[in-house]
Amino acid sequence: MIKEINNMKKILVTGGAGFIGSHLCEFLLEKGEKVTCLDNLLTGSKNNIEKLFSNKNFYFSKMTINNPISYNGKFDQIYNLACPASPVHYQSDPINTIKTNTIGVINMLELAEKKNSRILQASTSEVYGDPLEHPQSESYLGNVNTIGPRSCYDEGKRVAETLFSDFHREKGVDIRIARIFNTYGPNMAEDDGRVISNFVLQALKNEAITIYGNGEQTRSFCYVSDTVDGLYKLMNKKDFIGPVNLGNPIEFSMNKLAKKIVDLTNSNSNLIYGELPLDDPKKRMPDIILARDKLDWKPKVHLSDGLKKTINYFKE
Ligand code: UDP
Repeated sequence: MIKEINNMKKILVTGGAGFIGSHLCEFLLEKGEKVTCLDNLLTGSKNNIEKLFSNKNFYFSKMTINNPISYNGKFDQIYNLACPASPVHYQSDPINTIKTNTIGVINMLELAEKKNSRILQASTSEVYGDPLEHPQSESYLGNVNTIGPRSCYDEGKRVAETLFSDFHREKGVDIRIARIFNTYGPNMAEDDGRVISNFVLQALKNEAITIYGNGEQTRSFCYVSDTVDGLYKLMNKKDFIGPVNLGNPIEFSMNKLAKKIVDLTNSNSNLIYGELPLDDPKKRMPDIILARDKLDWKPKVHLSDGLKKTINYFKE
């Protein structure tokens, strides 16, 4: 009824208390939508959404997607972001990670089918594995180990894309698939072991910066507001389901990143070198031509600006 009067959309965000999810919830509320945030708080945190609780259009429910969800109302759109996403977190309980990407994803797709909702899957550049093609475009099929420590996430996210595609083909579910590359910004968990949170925290404490391997492996870092903008554009784009890469096409080695963070924090930290984790991708950079053409999207935030905001967040 409310929707018919003022066109307010009812939106479900799973993993809404996580890093990207919390920014997405805030962004959708600012757009005037009604947001239900679902999170089991395994890696997400209520602190990330604390300021949203006073908004009358925001609802939170502590719940896992790994059990079927019964809900009486309707959702126009579902963003499925629920899944531990940093290597440390997703490898700490790999079976749960796979369940989230299979059982959990089926639960969400069945909910979307029942409620006639459009559903977007937060997929990942990890579907490309340790890529043999560079930069990675959506047509690249990937180089993924099925039995390694990263497989629970990489293969989990791959099968999630398959489930989305089959629910679309077989049952007509209205899907969207975004492949999110490394994203950073405020609300990253301190203990997630990711490179930006680790380096920033180490630099702020003047502790040694822990570089894994020789530091010449590369990643391309996208500020969270750009990622959220891309997710929103994909969700609201007619007649384009993806998969589409969302990431910043500027490539950095971990050595360069460490030096940049040391400079920006005026830190006295040294760089120390440790073992490279098994199956750690050697390079990663998105080809974003498809996102530019179909969504008119490209990242706007420069790494230095995004890092300054992230540093301030961790300082606080
Ligand atoms: N890394 C590092 N030091 C750290 C944390 C990570 O050198 O303290 C490296 C890691 O081996 C990888 C890159 O940084 O090559 C990005 O790691 P992250 O866990 O942030 O994300 P990934 O892209 O590997 O999922």
